[in-house]
Amino acid sequence: MNTDALLERIAAKREEVTALTQELVRIPTVNPPGDAYEACARFLGERLAKRGFAVEYVRAEGAPGDSSSYPRTNVVARYEGSAGADCVHFNSHIDVVEAGPGWSMEPFAGIVRGDRVYGRGTCDMKGGLAASVIACEALIESGMALPGALEISGTVDEESGGFAGVGYLCERGYFTPPKVHHVIIPEPLGVDRVCLGHRGVWWAEVETRGRMAHGSMPFLGDSAINHMGAFLHLLERDLQPRLQSRHTAEPVEPPGARVSTLNINSIHGGQVEQRYAMDALQRPTGDLPSPVVAHRCRAVLDRRFIAEESLEQVKAEIIAMLDELKQSRKGFDYSIRDIMSFIPTATPKDAPVVVATARAIARVLGREPSFIASPGTYDQKHIVRTAKLRDCIAYGPGILDLAHQPDEYVEISALVDSAKVMALATLQLMGVTAR
Ligand SMILES: [Zn+2]
Repeated sequence: MNTDALLERIAAKREEVTALTQELVRIPTVNPPGDAYEACARFLGERLAKRGFAVEYVRAEGAPGDSSSYPRTNVVARYEGSAGADCVHFNSHIDVVEAGPGWSMEPFAGIVRGDRVYGRGTCDMKGGLAASVIACEALIESGMALPGALEISGTVDEESGGFAGVGYLCERGYFTPPKVHHVIIPEPLGVDRVCLGHRGVWWAEVETRGRMAHGSMPFLGDSAINHMGAFLHLLERDLQPRLQSRHTAEPVEPPGARVSTLNINSIHGGQVEQRYAMDALQRPTGDLPSPVVAHRCRAVLDRRFIAEESLEQVKAEIIAMLDELKQSRKGFDYSIRDIMSFIPTATPKDAPVVVATARAIARVLGREPSFIASPGTYDQKHIVRTAKLRDCIAYGPGILDLAHQPDEYVEISALVDSAKVMALATLQLMGVTAR
């Protein structure tokens, strides 16, 4: 089969893929709290139903975050193949992070300037979602026989772990063969890069304890904040250099993430934050703090680890530091609890979805792709771990560094090119011999 006509058809959809990206960005699916999920899922489902997809809405009832005011509604759409060949599934998360400060334009307007669509979620990842929709629609419209099924899902909460999204669907068999065989997640990893997997992650909360007293006589109490300070100091002085020296053989991008890392995500200690402000005369007004020695302090740790480390080692290393403080520091006491963890994942380079996507990139862009791994996890973790489907990658338009930033954008030419790659890869995975 000659695929030139298919590629031309996609090239002619430049305005359509731009418009679809704009429309998706204008539905402000901000997470947290999970705004407008239902509206976005319905928008996508109604469009695909018109193209012949069987559309299912799956609300993650009982999952974290689901409520009547913020329903966690996912959409899964399937276009049946003609001959029972492999099913190719494109999974995109519909949630975006808050706009935040620093924008030079309205973040949910989907403004087009030159070759760029601007807005929160253009890059991460409504542009990728739009490209996958256009790729599938072009395949259907081309009239080619598609022996396998096409699936497109729009799922919630990826930014907060994906438990009500892909995690929920994986537990219910939505990503398990023989329903699905190959998964492409159009996260913004770059139009010429195939992302094979990601580093591991361990989130934990450490709490230090002390004893309350009047703040004017701190010697009568025992400050949990001081104890936490001692722990944080140890992390910076002893652990950080060790992590920096642990290099991975995986091709993580950016290269700065080819080591183990630790971020102190947040710290809360003592009194709740006081809501005072300064008035015009620079006098404090509102709720003022009262003097207390903190009896409790909590820090959330975000530890990213490499394939060469095990989760057990990663946990044991930090617990050993806390135990050492308990021995050496008067009054130090702590507790630690897991928030979540995922081990590193890497799809082999000879897996069908990797080979097909790489070949399509070479054809469309005229250059060899690079193979990378992601510093952070994404929904591939659920697909590999829960659904046990290994043939999964992330591939999509957009520049990863722009994700979650002000003035986020995606390049329109990358939307078109990646849609071409997705369509060609799909044909190969369905076993259609194409030139
Ligand atoms: Zn994303």
